[in-house]
Order: sequence, then structure tokens, then C-alpha cells
Amino acid sequence: MADDVLTGPRIELDRDACCSSGNCVGAAPEVFDQDEADGLVMLRIQRPPADLTPGVRRAAQLCPSGAIRLVEPA
Ligand code: SF4
Repeated sequence: MADDVLTGPRIELDRDACCSSGNCVGAAPEVFDQDEADGLVMLRIQRPPADLTPGVRRAAQLCPSGAIRLVEPA
């Protein structure tokens, strides 16, 4: 599907696991944000374009709580 060519993995967040470290925002600020009230992770883009995939993968690797799960395109 063309959509899969143009986009990277879909991102699933476990906000209950998030410890508000902010590593994901540092790795991919175009994709991740933190709630101003509690610091918990929020998504700017549900399924980012492929050119942002390296930062998304880095964010998932750097997350200390395993709160970022990447679902690869089928
Ligand atoms: S890196 Fe993980 S724990 Fe830190 S804010 Fe992002 S999702 Fe939450």
C-alpha cells in the first residue's frame, strides 16, 4: 500500500508506564510532546512520515519505561 511506503511504524503509547523523562521529546520533537500538566507523553503525529522514523526508533530505544511500542507496517 502506498501509505506504508510513505509512513513509518505506527506508535502506541502506554501512558500508565510513562515516567515523564522527556527522552522521546529530545529524540523526536516533531513526533512526541509532553502534557504541560503532568509531563506524560503525547503524540503530535500518530503515524509519522518515513523520514522521521530514525528519531522515532531512537525515542523508543531511549525510553526508560518501555512506554513506546512501534507497530511496523504490514
Ligand atoms: S521517554 Fe518514555 S518515559 Fe520518557 S516521556 Fe517519553 S514515553 Fe514517557
